[in-house]
Amino acid sequence: MILLKTDRELALMRAANRIVAQVLSELGERVKPGVTTLELDQWAEQRILGLKGKPGFKGYGGRNGAPPFPATLCTSVNQEVVHGIPSLKRVLQEGDIIGVDVGVIYEGYYGDGAYTYAVGSVSAKAHALMDTCQKALLLGIEQARSGNHLGDIAKAIDGCVRTAGFAVVRDLSGHGIGRSLHEDPQILNYYDGRRGAKLKSRMTLAIEPMINAGTYEVRTMDDDWTVVTCDGSLSAHYEHTVALTDNGTEILTRC
Ligand code: MG
Repeated sequence: MILLKTDRELALMRAANRIVAQVLSELGERVKPGVTTLELDQWAEQRILGLKGKPGFKGYGGRNGAPPFPATLCTSVNQEVVHGIPSLKRVLQEGDIIGVDVGVIYEGYYGDGAYTYAVGSVSAKAHALMDTCQKALLLGIEQARSGNHLGDIAKAIDGCVRTAGFAVVRDLSGHGIGRSLHEDPQILNYYDGRRGAKLKSRMTLAIEPMINAGTYEVRTMDDDWTVVTCDGSLSAHYEHTVALTDNGTEILTRC
C-alpha cells in the first residue's frame, strides 16, 4: 500500500530531507585525495546530530541475516555501486569517484539522498557516467507527477542511460519513504514494459538510479553490504527524495 502524507508529515519530511541536502552539499568540500571514507562518516554523523537529526542508516537491519549497517554514510568508491561501508583503510585517491548516500531521521520521518563526487580530476568516462546518471535522475523526476505511472519514471531513466551507452542496475531500486526508510512502491530504474501503479499527490518517493559503465550485473561482497559491479566497471548513483503535491513535484533533497 502506498501511503499518502498529511500536511504535517510533508512538513517533517521537508525538514528531514533539508538536513540530507545540507550534509551532501557540505560533503562536496570534504571529498578530496587523502581523506578516508571513515573521516567523511564521522564528520557526517556529527553534522547530522548538530542539525537535530539522527543518522538513518546506522543500525538499519540487513536482509537475509546480514548484520545491521554499521555507519552513518554509505560510501561506494569506483566499482562499488551502493552500500559501501566507511573504513579507515579506504583512502580516496585522485581520479576516484565516490557515491555517498545519506539517510536522516527527523521527528520520526526519513530523508534519503545520494550524490557521486569526483575525487580531484577524473577520466572522461567517469565524467560521462556521472553526468548521465544525474540527467537520468532529473528526467525520472520530471515524470514523477500525479496522474503518471511508475513505469513512466523507469522509461525516462532507462532511455537516457541506454542512449548514453551505459547500463541501469536492475537488482536495486528506488522506494517510497516516510516513517519507514523503505515503503511501497518499489521504483524500478529499468523499464520492463509495465505501466505500474498510478502516481498521486502526497506520495513521497526516493528516486535513485544506479548505473554502470559496463554491464548491469552486480553482486554483494563478503561484508554482506557492499554491492559491486560484476565486471569491475565504474558505477554512479544519485538520489533525490521528492514529494508529489497538487502544485507539482517538490525535490526535498535539493540543496
Ligand atoms: Mg534510497
